[in-house]
Amino acid sequence: MSRLIRAVIDTNALRSNLARVRDVAAGARVMAVIKANGYGHGLVPVALALADADALAVARLEEGVQLREAGVRNTIVLLEGVFSAEQLSEAAQRGFDIVVHTAKQIDLLEDSPDPCAFTIWVKVDTGMNRLGFRPEEFRPAMDRLCALPVDRSQLRLVTHLARADEPQSTETLAQVARFEAATSGFDYPRSIGNSAGLFGWPSARGDWVRPGLALFGVSPFADRSAADLGLVPAMTLETTVIAVRRVPKGEAIGYGGAWCAPRDSVVAVLAAGYGDGLLRTLATGTPVLMNGRRAPLVGRVSMDMVTVDATEVAGVQVGCKAVLWGAGLPVEEVASHAGTIPYELLCGVRARVPRELR
Ligand SMILES: *Cc1c(COP(=O)(O)O)cnc(C)c1O
Repeated sequence: MSRLIRAVIDTNALRSNLARVRDVAAGARVMAVIKANGYGHGLVPVALALADADALAVARLEEGVQLREAGVRNTIVLLEGVFSAEQLSEAAQRGFDIVVHTAKQIDLLEDSPDPCAFTIWVKVDTGMNRLGFRPEEFRPAMDRLCALPVDRSQLRLVTHLARADEPQSTETLAQVARFEAATSGFDYPRSIGNSAGLFGWPSARGDWVRPGLALFGVSPFADRSAADLGLVPAMTLETTVIAVRRVPKGEAIGYGGAWCAPRDSVVAVLAAGYGDGLLRTLATGTPVLMNGRRAPLVGRVSMDMVTVDATEVAGVQVGCKAVLWGAGLPVEEVASHAGTIPYELLCGVRARVPRELR
């Protein structure tokens, strides 16, 4: 059956991006962050394509369980850790690494029959103010952890950067300095940089880098393209023209009559809408790739359709393919037309859009 809309996932691109990260962060180990359904690309296929990473990371226990049930045997880190004795025991059974970021999670380990089952990533909050022990809480937390029968060789230290995508910000180096100061004297492997951290800030890598976005071939920086960084987009969201119509000058299109044809126009209707994960905030003028040319999206995004001004595109007809983002049209650029970041567009691709592996 031929599908109107699909997300084509290029598994070679995933592998090549992993190799690129290894080159850039030479000497560091790579924890591939594949939470939120592999940034929308499909959790299990992404895990299989990135099986050579030194570890995989997800946000939540259920995501790890899904991977184990699919037969994934890699190290899996739960970035938010666990929140109950049941979750802790499931994490032990499934062989997950856990992040510990609150005193409550240490309580759980103290009450556990088997705290030495875990590799523990102790998270330090160096300025994000989201998860982690504040610098002054770090030593007391380590005292408690080290009093448990945990295997010291299984301890790791981690922090997360808030502004690594901003080349002008001094905050990244300040966070690294706070991390070093808070953890000095604790000789455990460290993990700092996400995609922006590892590409933008050599001192913010640590022994383990934690890329997500870059592995999917997307740049975390506003002023540097993925191609500049040596990355290849892994998802191409592709759809089909389901109608072509002539719209006379002065007539409006779609809900709210949000776009009025400024001239006699050819409008292509594509099978893709917010029911597929296109944001309704994608504005008139958002580029769509058709027959190798860019054409602007016009009018409102509907649930199952969008309209494109195809007046300048030769040979548009029903059945033509159109690329919403991916190869030839960076998702970073499309995201900017919705006032958002590429992460949100990628994660937002709905379950009804089939993922096709290439
Ligand atoms: C999501 C996440 C990452 C990956 O971030 P990218 O910007 O996608 O590279 C790394 N570390 C933590 C803790 C995360 O939550």
